[in-house]
Amino acid sequence: MTELQLDDFKTDENAAMVLLVDDQAMIGEAVRRGLSNEENIDFHFCADPHQAIAHAVRIKPTVILQDLVMPGLDGLSLVREYRNHPATKDIPIIVLSTKEDPLIKSAAFAAGANDYLVKLPDNIELVARIRYHSRSYMTLLQRDAAYRALRVSQQQLLDTNLVLQRLMNSDGLTGLSNRRHFDEYMELEWRRALREQSQMSLLMIDVDYFKTYNDTFGHLEGDEALRKVATAIREASARPSDLPARYGGEEFALVLPNTSQGGARLMAEKLRMTVAALKIPHISPSEGASLTISIGLSTMTPTAGSNCRELISAADKGLYSAKNNGRNQVGIG
Ligand code: GH3
Ligand code: MG
Ligand code: MG
Repeated sequence: MTELQLDDFKTDENAAMVLLVDDQAMIGEAVRRGLSNEENIDFHFCADPHQAIAHAVRIKPTVILQDLVMPGLDGLSLVREYRNHPATKDIPIIVLSTKEDPLIKSAAFAAGANDYLVKLPDNIELVARIRYHSRSYMTLLQRDAAYRALRVSQQQLLDTNLVLQRLMNSDGLTGLSNRRHFDEYMELEWRRALREQSQMSLLMIDVDYFKTYNDTFGHLEGDEALRKVATAIREASARPSDLPARYGGEEFALVLPNTSQGGARLMAEKLRMTVAALKIPHISPSEGASLTISIGLSTMTPTAGSNCRELISAADKGLYSAKNNGRNQVGIG
């Protein structure tokens, strides 16, 4: 093994990658020999302190053994450089000093070293310290990776929940809001209108002679016609607060918060004409006819103790009169 990747370590937390930075080749050889019989310890030697950072970035050591006195570059400055570099900032550093000196020792720890050994340390001690620091570094990396993975999966969960929410709220055939969402939305907007004492309008929309349409052209064509009507209703919804929904079967609804009767009537008329202009061929009420819709409309300002069902039932009455008066028209309930 020459260049171990972090991923390689993930499977073996006992593995260590050691980088010794020391200008003396003799020290390099001595440490290499000392580690040569150790399982899972990979050793790299860098004799040029100016190459140390680049070398560390390349091989990703789990421990750095750092000499303090080198020509051209002070070991302590190098320790600070490791600490400032994103790729090496957390790698444990064992400083190798020629003497046991409290002043040097405290300077080394202040610069960011994790450990201090006098050269050349006893092999048992060196191996034990390498293993100890390497393992704690691996644990740190694994913990960071686990946190990152957790954040990713939390975000995925949020995204999935959004998708589920959309699916739960929408009608499979037309993509409009389904009845469940319509009911929820009506309750919500009714309460808001009560608080704000604003007008709320509702259109109940029913396709005319749709049973005949299905019987004549088949259910698949019927579905297609419902999708076209749904698209017209969606496009009629001008404001973000307007909610087009499939109420059930060939009946649709359009919730219009903050909308006066005049405004709702205009929208209803426009929608009725839009559907008629689609010129979807039909045979009812007579040969050569086009598919049409009837619309019931109601507008209310909620009072305390009232229920949004009153608005639905009034719009239903409007729809009933539109049907009774000959269909393809808007009825006020
Ligand atoms: P009116 O003009 O009085 O509204 O008469 P209508 O025939 O439209 O009303 P009716 O309630 O008798 O028939 C509604 C038809 O709508 C019956 C049903 O087969 C059809 N229908 C309901 N849901 C769907 C659907 O999802 N797809 C299709 N293709 N047809 C549907
Ligand atoms: Mg109908
Ligand atoms: Mg119907």
